[in-house]
Amino acid sequence: MNDLPSPDDGDLYDDDGKIAVPEEVAEAIRTLIRWSGDDPAREGLIDTPRRVARAWKEYCQGYTDDPAQHLARVFEEVGGYEDIVLLKDIPFQSHCEHHMAPIIGKAHIAYLPQDRVVGISKLARVLHAFARRLQVQERLTAEVADCIWQHLAPRGVAVVIDATHACMTARGVRTPGVTMTTSRMMGIFREDPRSRAEVLKLMGY
Ligand SMILES: [Zn+2]
Repeated sequence: MNDLPSPDDGDLYDDDGKIAVPEEVAEAIRTLIRWSGDDPAREGLIDTPRRVARAWKEYCQGYTDDPAQHLARVFEEVGGYEDIVLLKDIPFQSHCEHHMAPIIGKAHIAYLPQDRVVGISKLARVLHAFARRLQVQERLTAEVADCIWQHLAPRGVAVVIDATHACMTARGVRTPGVTMTTSRMMGIFREDPRSRAEVLKLMGY
């Protein structure tokens, strides 16, 4: 198993320009199809292992994306602005590390700048870099907040994530419509209840 390419090895490509799928990866997916009760050799499933393998490379693109790099370019000219910066309702998709099932949700990311800000799309990029991995929602929330806290050195960071977990809605207790909310407050949003209330209100809570 050790000769499987790791995500940062750089992928090999087929003649058609798509990521090459090692035979043992395709075989693993055939095994799963067989174990689920179907025949991986039937026509409709012939190309499925390669498609599934490539889809997983895409779901897990975050492993080749350094989240901190998105915060490397900061703007120090903020015209005296010293209030909350909030990026709200950012849709994202992740996969739970327990079932490899989809986690689909929205994130709200806020910070209170201290001398410097980042381009607003960068906050979403940090989110996706962590989300496109095998995750648990609690860790995803903490990782996004910690990354902004560390690399932007703001006065406060608030991250709130609402998501539905397919491992709960499509299997197990099969409870559609249930969402899970997690939050991480740092700096002033943790210490000062009024600042926390303000940011939560801006986020729509
Ligand atoms: Zn799960």
